[in-house]
Amino acid sequence: MQRDNGVCLMTPRHIFGPVLSRRLGLSLGVDLIPFKTCSYDCAYCECGTTTDKTITRQDFFPAEHVITELRDVLASHPHLDSITLAGSGEPTLSRSLGPVIAFVKREYPEYTLSVLTNGSLMTDENVREELAVADRVIPTLTSVFQETFERIHRPHPLLRIEAIIEGMVQFRKMYSGALWLEVFVIPGLNTTAEELTGLKGAIERINPDHVQLNTLDRPPAEGWVEAATDAELERVSAVLGGSGIEIVGRKLPVSHAMKVNTDAGDLVRATLCRRPSTVEDLVRTTGLSGGEVAKILGVLERAGTVTSKRGARGVFYAILPGKDDQ
Ligand code: SF4
Repeated sequence: MQRDNGVCLMTPRHIFGPVLSRRLGLSLGVDLIPFKTCSYDCAYCECGTTTDKTITRQDFFPAEHVITELRDVLASHPHLDSITLAGSGEPTLSRSLGPVIAFVKREYPEYTLSVLTNGSLMTDENVREELAVADRVIPTLTSVFQETFERIHRPHPLLRIEAIIEGMVQFRKMYSGALWLEVFVIPGLNTTAEELTGLKGAIERINPDHVQLNTLDRPPAEGWVEAATDAELERVSAVLGGSGIEIVGRKLPVSHAMKVNTDAGDLVRATLCRRPSTVEDLVRTTGLSGGEVAKILGVLERAGTVTSKRGARGVFYAILPGKDDQ
């Protein structure tokens, strides 16, 4: 990373944020995967269509590159609620997963390390062992039925939801950290009585510490996916178990996010690379003013770097494919 009088001249390739996450608070994202490399191609994915659908673990980037960027960002010991392995693909596909988790827990044990995963590789004993070093692991489950699973996630053809659930059950048995289960709710697809009964049984088997109900918040890969209403989420929560289940709220408090070795334009661009956002989202997550965000978006638009799309909460901005390194 080039530096000049302590000022970063390049946006880090693997680190983004911190952003104010609905689920994790102030979260520094770590992306181990090339854009849209995933074992799924979820109809609700906010990053668009999967371009490399795979279940083969690979050395996408040297772990040392990620670790160097992390060292640089964490040197000032910023306040963070979580360092989160996430991004625009499935992090367990990366062979850097284990080394990066081990590095953070060895050198920065004061931080909570979370992993957001679709859970599909938890069938692999090596993946389970690497994840077991993290403080918090958050896999996703939407259905116990293969047909619904395929409709929602359009997974790699070798993936079977029964085996994935069994992988989560095995992981729970060996894992003493916090296992949170995300249940993504799509009205009409996984909200029938049969679907919810199946999900309730799977949750009992997996025995997570916490269940979070989530729903669409940003423009999805497929236009037919709809967000669940608050009433629908309440109903699903009641069927699945009520008090132990958190409905992830849609409203966020005003951010106290700070900048991490990057100027305002880089911060906005790094956020948009991973997460389509409205102006309001960007104000909240970056701590910049509305005027500053609008000015930066104007520059990026004139440069042909961003695209915009209308969603339920307003106009969402995203970096155009191929423009993320500029
Ligand atoms: S939502 Fe997650 S698991 Fe699904 S396609 Fe997108 S990156 Fe992959």
